[in-house]
Amino acid sequence: MAKSIEARDLNIYYGSFRAVEGVNMSIRPAQVTALIGPSGCGKSTFLRSINRMHEVIPGAYVEGSLELDGENLYDAAADPVTVRRQIGMVFQRPNPFPTMSIYDNVIAGYKLNSKKSNKTATDELVERSLRGANLWNEVKDRLDKPGAGLSGGQQQRLCIARAIAVRPDVLLMDEPCSALDPISTLAIEDLINELKTEYTIVIVTHNMQQAARVSDYTGFFNIEGTGKPGKLVEMDETKTIFSQPREKATEDYVSGRFG
Ligand code: ADP
Repeated sequence: MAKSIEARDLNIYYGSFRAVEGVNMSIRPAQVTALIGPSGCGKSTFLRSINRMHEVIPGAYVEGSLELDGENLYDAAADPVTVRRQIGMVFQRPNPFPTMSIYDNVIAGYKLNSKKSNKTATDELVERSLRGANLWNEVKDRLDKPGAGLSGGQQQRLCIARAIAVRPDVLLMDEPCSALDPISTLAIEDLINELKTEYTIVIVTHNMQQAARVSDYTGFFNIEGTGKPGKLVEMDETKTIFSQPREKATEDYVSGRFG
C-alpha cells in the first residue's frame, strides 16, 4: 500500500563531509515525486537515505528524522532489511542477475524475504509482477532464459518487476532511464504512471522534460559550491515548479540557465 514519507531536518554525511543539509520534505502517497538539481547536489544521497542504503557505505550516517507513514525508519528497533523491503529501489543501470533466469530474477528479492511457498503461488507472483511491470507479454514464453538476454529497456522493467514482487510501499528510482533509448524511456515513464496508483514513487532525474512528464511534485536541490552541502531549495506541484517557482535559483535551473 502506498505510504507517505516525511523528512525532518535531515543532514546526511559521508564521514565528516556533510553532503546534504536541513532537508524537510513531505512525500505524498500514491504520487510521483521527482528530485531535480545540478550534479553533486545530493539527490542520490537523499534518495538512498530513504531506504537506509546510504548507511552501507563505511562512515556514512544521517541526522534528523525520516518517517514512513509516521514510523521512524531510523528507530533503533527498525530493521534495515525490512525497511528495504518496504522501500524498494531501481537503479540507473538495469542490474538483473545476468545468468539467472527471468523467472528467478523476479522472485530473487522475494525469496530473501519470505518463507518457502508453493509452485502455483510463485508462478502467480511471477506473472503478476511481470504484468505489473508491463513485461509479461514480451517474456512469458521464455521465463527460463537468462535475464541478460533481454534488451536494456526490458531489463529495467525486469528490475521493476523484481522490486514490486516483494510488495513494497514505496519505489525509489535513481535515474532509471538514463541508460535507455527514447522508446524504452517512454515505456518506463508509462509504467511509472501506472504504478503510482499502488506505490509512492520518488524518482531522481536530470532530465527536466521527464520530471515534467512523469511527476506530480518536484523538489529542486541545489549546491552553493564545491564542498558545500546540497539543500532542498523548494518543493511544490510540478506545474508550479516549472511555471511559477518561488525561488530565482529554481527558475534559472528549470529554464536551463545553469546545471
Ligand atoms: P547527485 O545525485 O545530486 O548528483 P550525489 O548524492 O551523488 O549527488 O552526491 C552528493 C555529494 O556527495 C557529492 O559531493 C558527492 O561527491 C558526494 N558523495 C557521493 N557519494 C559518495 C561516497 N560514496 N563517498 C563520499 N562522498 C560521496
